[in-house]
Amino acid sequence: MSPEALRDHVVAAARRHGFHRVGIVPVEPTRRADLHRAWLAAGHHGEMAYLATPEHLAGRADPRALLAAARTVIVVALAYGTDAPPPPAATVRGVIARYARGTDYHLVVRDRLQLVAGELAAALGRPVASRVCVDSAPLAERELAERAGVGFVAKNTMIIAPGLGSYVVLGELLVDAELAPTAAPARDRDCGQCRACLDACPTGAFVDAYVLDARRCISYLTIEHDGPIPVELRPRLGAMIFGCDVCQEVCPYNAAAPGRHPPAIELTPRDADHAHPDLIALAAAGANQLRRFVKRTALRRVDRRRLLRNVAVALGNSGQPRAAAAALALLAHPEALVRGHAAWAVATLVEAGAVAAAAAAVALAEAARVEVDADATDELAAARARVAACAPAG
Ligand code: SF4
Ligand code: SF4
Repeated sequence: MSPEALRDHVVAAARRHGFHRVGIVPVEPTRRADLHRAWLAAGHHGEMAYLATPEHLAGRADPRALLAAARTVIVVALAYGTDAPPPPAATVRGVIARYARGTDYHLVVRDRLQLVAGELAAALGRPVASRVCVDSAPLAERELAERAGVGFVAKNTMIIAPGLGSYVVLGELLVDAELAPTAAPARDRDCGQCRACLDACPTGAFVDAYVLDARRCISYLTIEHDGPIPVELRPRLGAMIFGCDVCQEVCPYNAAAPGRHPPAIELTPRDADHAHPDLIALAAAGANQLRRFVKRTALRRVDRRRLLRNVAVALGNSGQPRAAAAALALLAHPEALVRGHAAWAVATLVEAGAVAAAAAAVALAEAARVEVDADATDELAAARARVAACAPAG
């Protein structure tokens, strides 16, 4: 088969396997590796030290570091995009980012790309050396997606596929065969004068258009970040316990896109309760229940302590009296990180008038009496001071 015939064959196969966009580019060194290095040098990657390792930088600089024989990259986009209306608020609800409301996209995209690789091998009549990448390997995927014509890099750093919006996950298939490139569409769409996402970000995480300081991003703070969430940012998390969609929700490209491309069935919300989980139930859940909650979803990326840290913050931010018992119960959680954030939540609920200061003061004093962890002790001291400031004089 000619490279052109192989291209057409693979594009048809990828479409048949449900991908909404497919683009093909030859393997070559990355053109904008310097931008990534500057981003790292500014420390915007936070605790994600793996982004600065020699292995990671090598992969981002040239896909052949991931597969020496690679000659072509097949880039795909799969839409997730649907919302799940929250169930009636009979409890305190959290919010899960839209991409994580169905089956784990890593699994869905990987499985489909493996089928595409199989079809390429069948067409060639030989085994194909290939590697599937779905956020699983260092690759300059946004540059590849742009070069392949899948979409353009937007000011919020996401890929926007015209006609589809940014509610897409990307995947790449490196192969050792030569396929003709797909023609990249003229770059006739971009963000123009819009800056809605930059202004809407709850934590001010954009240093500038196209430049995100991950250390302030709710997606990073709730998923990648392992330690305490900076106190000044906690109120900005609202009910978000895994990821954040704000800079996509305000985007006009997404407002124009819904409904035109039904999302991948596996990536549709599992159910409304999963998209907007009951925080009181999560706070009380045992290890098995939490395992079931995250099973086969992207939430597998956070461990129990991080998830409950996030739940504690969201309980505090709810300002609801019915969140009080759950927040108070987390003061006795086995994980110090959770206990510390529960102390913050209790004080926040007191300040919101959702818990009586006197009762909270007693609970926090008892927690402080038995606390052995230094960070949790500091959190408790800060919470007690806030609660004391709320107590009626006299
Ligand atoms: S995901 Fe949320 S916190 Fe992160 S940059 Fe976008 S709006 Fe800001
Ligand atoms: S909100 Fe505006 S600036 Fe931000 S990504 Fe969308 S079009 Fe671009």
